[in-house]
Amino acid sequence: MPTDKTPITVAHGDGIGPEIMAATLEILEAGGAELAIETIEVGEKLYESGFSSGIRPDSWESIHRTGVLLKAPITTPQGGGVKSLNVTIRKTLALFANVRPSRAYHPYIRTHFPDLDLVIVRENEEDLYTGIEHRQTDDVVQCLKLISRPGCERIVRYAFEYARKRPRRKLTCMSKDNIMKMTDGLFHRVFNEVAAEYPDVETEHMIIDIGMARVADTPERFDVIVTLNLYGDILSDIVGQISGSVGVGGSANIGEKAAMFEAIHGSAPDIAGKGVANPSGLLLAGVKMLEHIGQSEAADRVQKAWLKTIEDGVHTGDLYRPELSKRRVGTAEFAEAVIERMGEEPSRLPVSHYPSVDMRKTKPRRTRPAAKALVGVDVFLHVRWDQEGDPNELAAGLLGAPVTPLRLDSISSRGLKIWPDGAPETVEADHCRCRFLADRPGRQLTHQDIAVLLARLAERGFDFIKTEHLYEFDGQRGYSLAQGQ
Ligand code: NAD
Repeated sequence: MPTDKTPITVAHGDGIGPEIMAATLEILEAGGAELAIETIEVGEKLYESGFSSGIRPDSWESIHRTGVLLKAPITTPQGGGVKSLNVTIRKTLALFANVRPSRAYHPYIRTHFPDLDLVIVRENEEDLYTGIEHRQTDDVVQCLKLISRPGCERIVRYAFEYARKRPRRKLTCMSKDNIMKMTDGLFHRVFNEVAAEYPDVETEHMIIDIGMARVADTPERFDVIVTLNLYGDILSDIVGQISGSVGVGGSANIGEKAAMFEAIHGSAPDIAGKGVANPSGLLLAGVKMLEHIGQSEAADRVQKAWLKTIEDGVHTGDLYRPELSKRRVGTAEFAEAVIERMGEEPSRLPVSHYPSVDMRKTKPRRTRPAAKALVGVDVFLHVRWDQEGDPNELAAGLLGAPVTPLRLDSISSRGLKIWPDGAPETVEADHCRCRFLADRPGRQLTHQDIAVLLARLAERGFDFIKTEHLYEFDGQRGYSLAQGQ
């Protein structure tokens, strides 16, 4: 029989997950949400039965079909071998935007910041979270930070579209481009480029460290903040904490074809099964989900009933304060209290709206291919200083290898130049980078030149562990200099 219900996929999760999901679904239904629910199993049980991703392959079919996942928190087992399901879902469904609104519910939930009302738009697919890590030597491991122009453009456009729909129309970009001039620099540059298309949005850029400090100090000066993956992760928790309770935060992970809605907190194993968890974070994620699927009336009704419950002082243990609260309740009683208030209006707390963004407007433009010239190579060595001697001796050994058309330009240790003219006390790690450049300006190298160089270094016993080609793009240097160069 045809139905007007919107199909969604629901995962009940671990720890307090099943309790808060049951409460959430009951409230959403009482609010008039029209949902055709498909349930999937994720998390601990699946990890234990050998699904290292925490999800069964056939569950993907439901998520791909419905395009909407409401997910309770799951417990991520510590240690190697298993992958975080949250990261897997975000990546598999290309959920490029993590959108986390936070606001104060003063004077009903205690906060030092009664006017806090901001949204963090965090890039969700790139940065250090690509999880590409290697052990290179006895002492050194690396994690690759990958940033793409389309990735930056898409999240920045999403943030501008979102900010444009908020009353204050203000967007702050945060990055660390004073240090990471290429990766964070690209993010900041793309922000400036896209800003030109949104003259109606007030913009600013802050270096992430002072930016986070200001958010922790005066969050009310911010409206929408867009930032890279790792910084956004940290910033979101700071804001969740200072807004009054992590228990009331909900977030949306948005992609072109799918979206996932969840609470910001974890599975709280310490209180699981006790019936005391606050379902509000997941419920407010559910409200965002209803707006996303076009059920705004039900979303409003549920949010108003929830606000009224909070105003009436009916609070779960995490929010309960004798001076502010009237009744301390468990998960199921809290759900009942919200359902009883369905159709009522809050008297002081305003309703929040979570604008949905036209995804066609977030499409990145195609990057124009540049004229690319190979001009050198960084060869990373595993060095045993007790055998190689000091950097001067290492350089002498490298210079002894005939490497035309390349020349040894410099040696650095963890980014700091140690040859020529390095400070010997800076050499500690068993890892260094030897930079070879074309032996005269304007000479273009070939892959073959680099293969010959590596063969000669191997013949002489140098233990190279990685190479990175050095390019110019339209005549512009496409690599950073070493510190001290
Ligand atoms: P947590 O958020 O689960 O718990 C932190 C503290 O907050 C605990 O004292 C807990 O009792 C309390 N708390 C959390 N949610 C609450 C609620 N709704 N009501 C009342 N109190 C609440 O963080 P954690 O202890 O660091 O993590 C536990 C597990 O959750 C870990 O396995 C972690 O990997 C996982 N986790 C999952 C997600 C997710 O699925 N999205 C997010 C974060 C953490």
